[in-house]
Amino acid sequence: MAQKTKAIDEEQIVSSTGALSLKEVPKRMVIIGAGVIGLELGSVWSRLGAEVTAVEFLPLIGGAAIDGEVSKSLQKILTKQGLKFKMSTKVTGAQKEGSVIKINLEDAQDPNKKETLDCEVLLVCVGRRPYTENLGLEELGIEKDKKGRIPVNSVFQTVVPNIYAIGDCIHGPMLAHKAEDEGIICIEGIMGGPVHIDYNCVPSVIYTHPEVGWVGKSEEALKSEGVDYKVGKFPYMANSRAKTNNDTDGFVKVLSDKATDRILGTHIIGPTAGELINEAVLAQEYGASSEDVSRVCHAHPTCAEALKEASTAAYSGKPINF
Ligand SMILES: Cc1cc2nc3c(=O)[nH]c(=O)nc-3n(C[C@H](O)[C@H](O)[C@H](O)COP(=O)(O)OP(=O)(O)OC[C@H]3O[C@@H](n4cnc5c(N)ncnc54)[C@H](O)[C@@H]3O)c2cc1C
Repeated sequence: MAQKTKAIDEEQIVSSTGALSLKEVPKRMVIIGAGVIGLELGSVWSRLGAEVTAVEFLPLIGGAAIDGEVSKSLQKILTKQGLKFKMSTKVTGAQKEGSVIKINLEDAQDPNKKETLDCEVLLVCVGRRPYTENLGLEELGIEKDKKGRIPVNSVFQTVVPNIYAIGDCIHGPMLAHKAEDEGIICIEGIMGGPVHIDYNCVPSVIYTHPEVGWVGKSEEALKSEGVDYKVGKFPYMANSRAKTNNDTDGFVKVLSDKATDRILGTHIIGPTAGELINEAVLAQEYGASSEDVSRVCHAHPTCAEALKEASTAAYSGKPINF
């Protein structure tokens, strides 16, 4: 892939981590990878007027950790907004012909099914890797794991006791807020304080419109772990604030333990999801049940009432206003 794209002008192939210096909105843009960053950048360029097609190897958009129902709903909404998706498809190469880039595609299951896609700009969003090359780790006796990450213990100490590592170069989600929290507790630990982080309580947000936010386990994860759970859902079309703002796409879904009602995961697609998810994180961090959240007084009219209603649905089987 890298060799075949060599001939393409730099301004036509851009990496999600590099600066984008386009002089005008391209007519057609292909995004490789419909994960979080591909969706965010793709939806922005689509709203600016580009015809955007996202090519994704997996059958779902939004990355491997997203709840399947949320992913399907997001794909439907973004498709309605004009984004196109080629799912279960891999990019095998690209060539430049004049000002057009021809991208070779192959069905992820059947290598005989091939096609080409034309665009003016190709945006590569295939995920990130820890940047741990040429740091002199090997000379210090620090061996990286299979993913190139630096192994650390529960207080972020490497095998060399006075060398610590945090953030994208160690295990856990590659997110800014996770790195920041680790930085603080790592230093507190060095100063003799307690060190604790629960990666299950690190939220993820996709900054599309509508936004997506989640924390904890998806339904797919709970099923594969054999956990008995309850589902409480509330649609934004029944939420007062969303209706007032004429922004009613999406829903809130709360998953709680069938036996104890402890919240196991919260999944939001809709207005202010990226803000509202923080309330769900707080609840999960404190080990709240869905009944706890349901019985907390929420201001009206707010989008946060959708979380209260979904929590009510999880513990009692029915929300109040739907
Ligand atoms: C396009 C994009 C969008 C993103 N959006 C979000 C988002 O919306 N929310 C979110 O939470 N996360 C987001 N992330 C992820 C987020 O940026 C990272 O998780 C976060 O920056 C990790 O922090 P860090 O300190 O571990 O690494 P970094 O922020 O990468 O910091 C590492 C620093 O070390 C420097 N460095 C590297 N090698 C050396 C060396 N040998 N000597 C000296 N300095 C060196 C680098 O230049 C860099 O400044 C996004 C990432 C990308 C690429």
